[in-house]
Amino acid sequence: MLIDSHAHTCDEKFDNDREETLARAFAGGVKYIIEVGCEPESWDKVFELSRKENVFSMFGIHPQDASKFNEASLNRMKNLLNDKKCVAVGEIGLDYHYEYSPKNVQKEVFIKQMELAVEINKPVSIHCRSAYEDMLKILRTLNKIPKGVIHCFSGNLNEAKEVLDMGFLIGIDGPCTYPKSDKLKDVIANVPINKLLVETDCPYLAPQLFRGQRNEPSYVAEVAKKIAEVKGMQFEEVCNATAANTVNLFNLRS
Ligand SMILES: [Zn+2]
Repeated sequence: MLIDSHAHTCDEKFDNDREETLARAFAGGVKYIIEVGCEPESWDKVFELSRKENVFSMFGIHPQDASKFNEASLNRMKNLLNDKKCVAVGEIGLDYHYEYSPKNVQKEVFIKQMELAVEINKPVSIHCRSAYEDMLKILRTLNKIPKGVIHCFSGNLNEAKEVLDMGFLIGIDGPCTYPKSDKLKDVIANVPINKLLVETDCPYLAPQLFRGQRNEPSYVAEVAKKIAEVKGMQFEEVCNATAANTVNLFNLRS
């Protein structure tokens, strides 16, 4: 059993063949898909999609959209987070690569959503790009840390160890299949399989075999294959272990 624990199939790149794309994933062995609604404009579409069997949702405000966090969007988000198909707050975090929103706004909005996750007792999916130092600083100072995953992990092994100690899991995506991914392979080799999730983050980050093309949930198998290769495990073993980790973290029930 495979799970794509982080997908954006509501992206307009799937507008012409969303149904076929999902069908391809389910036919190819993907049991569940967790669809991410991380900007207020996409929330309704993600909610609709998650009416489908075996599709779950998460809602949050992405660091790139941090400036859209206000009382109105927060109230809307709280409603969506109440939905029985919604399994997490996400993706939330820090992105200093693009810095579409000022760093201080990103930090404030990240902290508020972390506190919200604790309050409603849901796990989080954290996006962190070029901001590991500040993310760790924030995590160290929070009173209470929710359960969650550092999605699309791109830190080093020391950073991985620190977030594992805080109780987080680590999300692995297509970049682990790229030739220049020694740092990520080092993380995969040294983190126990019961701490890893597989994700696509589609339509972005297609694995090496499909690099340059649109990514899609069925390609999550490529990530599991690479983990199996790096850890010297059977592909099936990696699929089942990461799926079990995902079911446990997000409390998935079909
Ligand atoms: Zn994402």
